[in-house]
Amino acid sequence: MIRVRFAPSPTGNLHIGGGRTALFNWIYAQAKKGKFILRIEDTDKERSKQEFVDEILGSLQWLGFNWDEVYYQSKRFDLYREYAERLLKDGKAYTEKTEKGEAIIFKVTPQAIQLNDLIRGKIEFDSTTIKDQVLIKSDGTPTYNFACVVDDATMDITHVIRGDDHISNTPKQILLYQALGFPIPGFAHLPLILQKEGGRLSKRTGATAISDYRKMGYLSNALVNYLLLLSWAPGENREVIDINEAVKLFDVTDVNKTAATFDLNKLNWMNNQYLKTQDAEGLTDLLIPLLAEKGYIAQDNFDRNYVVSLVKLFQERLTTLNDFLDWSDFFFAKDLQMDPAAEKKYLSKDLSREFSLFIERLDSLKQFDIATIEASFRDLVKELNIEAKALIHPIRVALTGKTIGPGLFEVIYYLGKEKTRERLNKFIRKG
Ligand code: GLU
Repeated sequence: MIRVRFAPSPTGNLHIGGGRTALFNWIYAQAKKGKFILRIEDTDKERSKQEFVDEILGSLQWLGFNWDEVYYQSKRFDLYREYAERLLKDGKAYTEKTEKGEAIIFKVTPQAIQLNDLIRGKIEFDSTTIKDQVLIKSDGTPTYNFACVVDDATMDITHVIRGDDHISNTPKQILLYQALGFPIPGFAHLPLILQKEGGRLSKRTGATAISDYRKMGYLSNALVNYLLLLSWAPGENREVIDINEAVKLFDVTDVNKTAATFDLNKLNWMNNQYLKTQDAEGLTDLLIPLLAEKGYIAQDNFDRNYVVSLVKLFQERLTTLNDFLDWSDFFFAKDLQMDPAAEKKYLSKDLSREFSLFIERLDSLKQFDIATIEASFRDLVKELNIEAKALIHPIRVALTGKTIGPGLFEVIYYLGKEKTRERLNKFIRKG
């Protein structure tokens, strides 16, 4: 039975790198019908915060990585002490007194250490460079390397999949496995994630928290697909891949060795792929709370079919869910936000006559549908002997406040006669 674990320290939010590590553990567990274990590494009492635990759990759930078991290191201090004392008894560790208390330290015997990394291949270490290791600090808390080994062994972890910033810890951990007589698990170190501008992905250079991407309107399945591509390829140049399909193809030994580059443009492309193919009803479900928060709709009293129709109007071009909020505002707003440059460009000229005539035509329509609206508009420009675009752009700006958006006749149809008349009237000069 394959057992893997994701072991975040709750000293910050779950970031892109942590999300990718969680994904590769989770997907490997799914692929091998094993177990995915979550271990909160909260031994540092000062820096660990409950709010970060909550944030990490929330982000993992949003990404869809449900865990089979969860453990907190802060509840296992007795266990770490028990194993440290066993090493003391065996003469493999010694104590050292300080002002604060007594530390337990592991004696390192120089030897060659070999790691057969499932991704990187063979890596040799020289333990002469490894100093004796603190197991339990004088304040009674275990060190990361020691707690990690005791936990991975007692939780029957078969594969340790983590970021390659932990490669240098691995020989120290191997020595501890040997000293404690534990079987050594498989190790798979995931490559670095770089940012496009070079250097490691960091908080200073933009959003790194998974929850930030959620707030910006990325879909969890698009983000998961993107994280997967950061270090693995399904083959045949496929990029958009359903996670259940990926589970069938995935193996940890196929993970890339080379550093990944986080490319926001690529993520945006991916999000658009998911947004435009997702069922409009499902997108509407995601958008309703956002629309309610904006005050565009009342959460418990709105026309759902109307929202679904609007979603279909914009869906094709959305990069994020938030784009929908920015672009569709004119359908909901009482006070239309005008783009001043657009207004100046298209509505400075007096179009009172044209707008009045168009309103008259709309009012006299027996049937109010997109095709009839368009036909009556085409009729009018023909009669006025002007180019369609000479009127399309000004009407669009008057109705939406913007120069771009869905087709004008769809806009008129979904805005309705009332609002269309009202908004065009504002630009009809009286007297
Ligand atoms: N708590 C460690 C981290 O956040 C876990 C390292 C490991 O997976 O062994 O990096």
